Amino acid sequence: MTFTDLGLHQNILRAVDSLGFSTPSEIQEKAIPIISSGTQDFVGLAQTGTGKTAAFGLPLVQQTDFTLQDTQGLVICPTRELCMQITKDLMAFARYQSHPNIVPVYGGASIDDQIRRLKKGAHIVVATPGRLLDLIRRRVIRLNTVNRVVLDEADEMLNMGFKEDIDTILEQTPEEKRVWLFSATMPKEVRRIAKNYMNDPAEIIVGKQNSAADNIEHRYYMMREKDRYYALKRILDFYPDIFGLIFCRTRRETGMISEKLEKEGYNVVALHGDLSQSQRDAAMKKFRERTVTILVATDVAARGIDVDGITHVIHYNLPDEPEYYTHRSGRTARAGKSGISVALINTREINKIRQIEKLIQTKIEYTPIPEAEEIGEKRMYAMMDRVVKTPVDEEAIERYWPVIYNKLKHLPAEEIVLKFISTELNALLEYYKNAGNLNAKQEKPVNREEGKRRNGKSSGKINGPTITFFINLGDKQHMNKGAMVRLVCSGSGISGKQVGKIDIHPEYSLFEVDQPAAPHILPAIETGTYEGKNFRIKISKEKNGRKNKERRR
Ligand code: AMP
Repeated sequence: MTFTDLGLHQNILRAVDSLGFSTPSEIQEKAIPIISSGTQDFVGLAQTGTGKTAAFGLPLVQQTDFTLQDTQGLVICPTRELCMQITKDLMAFARYQSHPNIVPVYGGASIDDQIRRLKKGAHIVVATPGRLLDLIRRRVIRLNTVNRVVLDEADEMLNMGFKEDIDTILEQTPEEKRVWLFSATMPKEVRRIAKNYMNDPAEIIVGKQNSAADNIEHRYYMMREKDRYYALKRILDFYPDIFGLIFCRTRRETGMISEKLEKEGYNVVALHGDLSQSQRDAAMKKFRERTVTILVATDVAARGIDVDGITHVIHYNLPDEPEYYTHRSGRTARAGKSGISVALINTREINKIRQIEKLIQTKIEYTPIPEAEEIGEKRMYAMMDRVVKTPVDEEAIERYWPVIYNKLKHLPAEEIVLKFISTELNALLEYYKNAGNLNAKQEKPVNREEGKRRNGKSSGKINGPTITFFINLGDKQHMNKGAMVRLVCSGSGISGKQVGKIDIHPEYSLFEVDQPAAPHILPAIETGTYEGKNFRIKISKEKNGRKNKERRR
């Protein structure tokens, strides 16, 4: 099937051609013939990314008489971003019409500018509900000549609490009009709108209803609540080429996570309701242009984001409403590309995963959180690939070459390579040197009484005398018994069998070391860093949780 087969006029076909669309997408193929007939209302169940804007936009432009001054088309959508995107698309579809005036109106921008543009006579108005209502009340917009109404992302608009606004707006439109409604899901409230304001609509479903796009791979990672942020970091580190969108549940969480990531050197920007409109625009611009590669956002702020090429959608926390999962995940795998949706959950949230699986009719696969070694390996190879692919501008380097050569000439080639790798990766390798396993699912219960260690390296029982050490890292710093054994052994060179009982407290920990091994500890690891935090070890005054009785006696 071609666009010509869909009954579109010549100047619309020329516009489609200049956009480079060669074949219609499924929703376009199914919707355009019905919508173009101009005789029937229409409900399309389709996700963003399916080409639904052109599915309603091409017939809308075709059915608009641009020689008139009247407002004939009204598109209502949930967000400013979507509003601007739709307007841009409609302008492209109307490229070969004479003097089309398509005006976006949305909150958070100067109402006076919008009023000025409307007064010139808008053929089509693309609006968010709140601002539109405001303009109607100020009598700047009159809807009595509107004959086509599009409700885009109807479920999102209802989720955002625009139910009454939409009712009020629709009541202002003439009885004789066509309504075309698009929604990713069909909750009761959307059905109600279809029933109240539409006349026996044709209904088309593209893909599975309520389902996420097929080219999205769904994964979940399970960790203890306190490890959530650290698990996120590992996932980001594991995908060095990520172009990702991280969803948080609240503005506060969004701000906190983006700030923490930024401090730790990640290329991130935040998008949430506490930011001014110009800050939000700046954030989106950076992300769109890929000056930053990670956008941390709330559900509300991220609505309508239409950025191609997002590789990962990360649910830092799952949404309260399972249906939001589909909207979030739909930001990846757009325009035929594939993408990964990653949910981080704690041990009590598995039911949420099951609920979402039911809704999207797709399995969300359990995936272990990458371990330190895997991350190091992946980063190393990614860096090597980057080095191999980097073009060399010999001319530009030529003038510096004598100095560079002088500095490096005494080093063998192999060592130069090692040093370049280390420049890039030392900080990462240092951070992960003693990192533990964050997977909550694989964790075996620790038998405290017997002092058994998870990784079996340490028996916990030492028959001879022991020395107890204090370290200022505890549960709050994500220290655990396995990580402690690794830190002590790899730092000092003693074996796991020489480490005895370990007590992890909230802010500090105590560990026993076999007396003959004890002199190796302080010279080697009196200070150091663990997961980016400085630590200090000293001989303890306590004997494994009990005040040292010998001393008190
Ligand atoms: P939408 O679902 O309307 O947000 O469209 C998703 C993306 O697909 C947009 O970037 C469109 O420009 C693009 N698109 C829409 N229809 C087609 C088509 N028939 N062929 C190629 N790309 C398309």
